Amino acid sequence: MKSSKCKLLFATALLLVIFVALLLNTLAADIHWSYSGDAGPEYWGELSPEYALCTDGSAQSPIDIRDASALDLVDIEFHYGESANNILNNGHTIQVNIDAGSAIHYNGITYDLLQFHFHSPSEHTIDGMPAPMEIHFVHQDPNSGALAVVGILLSEGKDDNEAYAAVFDHLPAQVGEAEAAGEPIVLAALLPEARTFFTYQGSLTTPPCSEIVRWLLLDTPVALSARQIAAFTAIFDANARPVQPLGARDLLLDSQ
Ligand SMILES: [Zn+2]
Repeated sequence: MKSSKCKLLFATALLLVIFVALLLNTLAADIHWSYSGDAGPEYWGELSPEYALCTDGSAQSPIDIRDASALDLVDIEFHYGESANNILNNGHTIQVNIDAGSAIHYNGITYDLLQFHFHSPSEHTIDGMPAPMEIHFVHQDPNSGALAVVGILLSEGKDDNEAYAAVFDHLPAQVGEAEAAGEPIVLAALLPEARTFFTYQGSLTTPPCSEIVRWLLLDTPVALSARQIAAFTAIFDANARPVQPLGARDLLLDSQ
């Protein structure tokens, strides 16, 4: 009798421990962060032990681009096809998830294109100056898990950018809302013709700020119309992390 009571107590305690562990795990996955207030960028590292790099890291992104060392680097080879227009408002940005089959090849590694998304204003600045917006094409090496993010600054021009119309005419305004509307996106048309770039080793610009990103920032901006930029800023008007110290890292400019 005594022994079975003991077993019951043990089983109950075990269940309780499992329940608490599951609860903590769920909470960790759902930690709220934002771009302002008490869950804003300066506090990201304190919101969870998993976000510690946001405060303690030494290779964080974005950065201010200045005094880059010009070298003749290997080119980024873009192997971009078409993708259905799967647009999601994830509460932090507008993200377009990409069909399999598009990739870049850089420095001997093929990185698959997973998604692209937007920030306003730009996260990277040039000599201290932000652009109205920045687009991030997120690629992953399927073997190592390392990321290569191609960033492009988006400036304001006179006319609508037709290549971006499929996305900017269907921006989902509500958090969690998804759209799959309009023509397929021709991915290469989203890029500028000149493909010289700045590069440095950095991090995700959102929690958990993992330092696993080879940044490839094209030095030629792409222009959107004021109307297109306003369509985005009506939904997200300040979703950019402030610039982080370059520290001991190399910042290189591909000179040709
Ligand atoms: Zn981004």
